[in-house]
Amino acid sequence: MSDMNHPSNDDQGFVPASFTPQPLTPGGAFPQAQTQNAFAPQAPAFAPQTPSSGAFAPAGTPRTSGPVPPFTERELRSFRHSAEIPLYTIMVVFNVLVVAFALISSILAFFDIGPLTGKSGAMINELILGIQAEADAHIEIIVILIGLPILLLFTVYLYYAQYRANSIRITEKNFPEIYEVVEDYARRLGMKNVPKVYLTQENGLLNAFSTYILRRQYVVLLTDLFEVAYLEHHDLDSIKFIIGHEMAHIRLKHATFSYQMSILFANYLPIIGNALSRAREYSCDRVAQHLVGKSGIEPMLALVVGKHLYKKVDVEDYVKHCHEVRGFFVFIYNLMASHPIMPKRIQALLRDHGSGRLFF
Ligand SMILES: [Zn+2]
Repeated sequence: MSDMNHPSNDDQGFVPASFTPQPLTPGGAFPQAQTQNAFAPQAPAFAPQTPSSGAFAPAGTPRTSGPVPPFTERELRSFRHSAEIPLYTIMVVFNVLVVAFALISSILAFFDIGPLTGKSGAMINELILGIQAEADAHIEIIVILIGLPILLLFTVYLYYAQYRANSIRITEKNFPEIYEVVEDYARRLGMKNVPKVYLTQENGLLNAFSTYILRRQYVVLLTDLFEVAYLEHHDLDSIKFIIGHEMAHIRLKHATFSYQMSILFANYLPIIGNALSRAREYSCDRVAQHLVGKSGIEPMLALVVGKHLYKKVDVEDYVKHCHEVRGFFVFIYNLMASHPIMPKRIQALLRDHGSGRLFF
């Protein structure tokens, strides 16, 4: 699968060609330059909070006046999905093993010594890295091990240039109430820097994501996600939830170059990579819930039915329907997904504590 959309450059007319990052697909082909952290699996949207989501009152999120104190480290740990660190650890170990094995076998093959030399070594490398088992495969492996991180860096900087070139930055003057939210959440999350938030349109795509360059992270909100909630519904809570979710990816260190490098090759692991991604999403939903003090169900409904209709959804009925979405093929579908399927995601939000269900 490819990570980028490369819309054709010709006859774009009004719209400049862009190499839009695929928001959310972890475990994809290589340079995952970007948005492992998009809010929504494919076409996120977000929307207003309708009142029917039950009495959600997360601890430590008073809704009255006065600044809410920052989260403690303990609170942040409790928000993180219980499987996230174990899965990440497995991925890192696998990543290290792949790199070490590829390096060692290539070096041995280069000097034509050791048990993994020549054709057999190259074949093993082929199994791991998908490289042609040719006599000089070890050279290709070295090139890939060095070249892929460089390619990843190149890509993330290119994306950064794209978003700066084609976005409005949210500031004290541009959408000041949103800027205040970003500042407040940065404080409550104990972030040293307030991340920059860019607003851009991508031809109707509904999404938001956090991403990175070296030592800096930023958030991109896509206009379609933003404008309906902001203009039509005056639904700041849903916008806040989306922003909170993306800032949580930054605070929990998902959106960093080092994090992506640490699991770069482990993304080839078919089940674990997606499970880790789903765990990250649960973690960030939980953080956003506690930042906003709302269930977060309405922005999810917008992802399901779109930016206008989510207001019309009967939440109770939908939740009842969520319990019915199960069975073998639902299990398989969820297993392959980078984000929890919506019924599971919403059920986790309804519980307002603990960890969402990764598999069953
Ligand atoms: Zn996310």
